[in-house]
Amino acid sequence: MKIEGFKFHGTNKAFYAHYKNGAWDEGKLDTSINFEISSLAVAIQYGQSVFEGLKAYRAKDGRTLLFRPEANAKRLQGSCERLMIPPVPMELFIKAVKLVVKENKDLVPSYESKGSLYIRPFVIGTETVMGVRSANEFLFGVVATPVGSYFKDGFNSIRLTTTPYDRAAPNGLGHIKSGANYAASLYPKYLAQQQGFDDCLYLDPKTHTKIDETGATNIIGIKGNQFITPQSRSILPSITNNSLQMIADKLLGMEVIRREIPLNEISSFDELGACGTAAVITPIESVQDENKVYKLKSNKVLHKLHDLLQSIQFGDINEDFGWVIEV
Ligand SMILES: *Cc1c(COP(=O)(O)O)cnc(C)c1O
Repeated sequence: MKIEGFKFHGTNKAFYAHYKNGAWDEGKLDTSINFEISSLAVAIQYGQSVFEGLKAYRAKDGRTLLFRPEANAKRLQGSCERLMIPPVPMELFIKAVKLVVKENKDLVPSYESKGSLYIRPFVIGTETVMGVRSANEFLFGVVATPVGSYFKDGFNSIRLTTTPYDRAAPNGLGHIKSGANYAASLYPKYLAQQQGFDDCLYLDPKTHTKIDETGATNIIGIKGNQFITPQSRSILPSITNNSLQMIADKLLGMEVIRREIPLNEISSFDELGACGTAAVITPIESVQDENKVYKLKSNKVLHKLHDLLQSIQFGDINEDFGWVIEV
């Protein structure tokens, strides 16, 4: 079967663990991605829902490799704390992800296809609650499915537009991987696509003058030998971005800078890219802001970063970072 695009392409087995009476159970595998849930579960009515996304890759020699699962486990714990969810223990998270990858090993796309097995861990409040309060019962799930490369031709560039909407509030959930942020991003993304753009670029929600990120990817700018990425309370700390910063610094000798980036600084960037687990790195061709268009000329350095990151993820080159784990 040829796996194309970022869609659900079926799964062999998923993993589910439950939290009840103050403790997580050990969880177990299940063949179904469907389960029964109360209509009045806090996740459904009030959005008590957090998630993660990571990938397993098929190496040239057939090994199955996971990329930085501990980083996802830690970030999920942070998300849980902010949403009053009991954090999923590191050992439970790693055990569940490894089990799911093992059960779905035959679904990991071939090395040549450049596809991967996308893994979606999540935690939701399942208790029936009428008033607004945190649930006391939760479900931790891990579901995996093969995905193709995010964009049809691999390294396509995209066009963005700014938006008057915000995906997150200044002191809200922007730095948390919560379902709520995605709910808030659906309409602005729809509007951007109606206008012929691929996605919208969110500005900082407080002043609307600085670059934050897109609905599902961080932003990186390249200026000479500098790798510049926004510092903001309302963006999600991307593990892809963090990995690219280390690659830029340690392997390419670039200067890595995290700071606020005024929107109009784009005109001085050589390259601008969107990065995340699903998209890897996607060059941004232009950013429209009302009547002004910022155009980017190159994607040379982004291409180099993309290839280095993918060669690490697919096990083509050994790395000293300790990122890649064989399952
Ligand atoms: C998940 C996510 C990203 C990308 O994070 P990775 O860890 O690189 O996958 C970026 N922005 C938002 C809003 C996200 O939810």
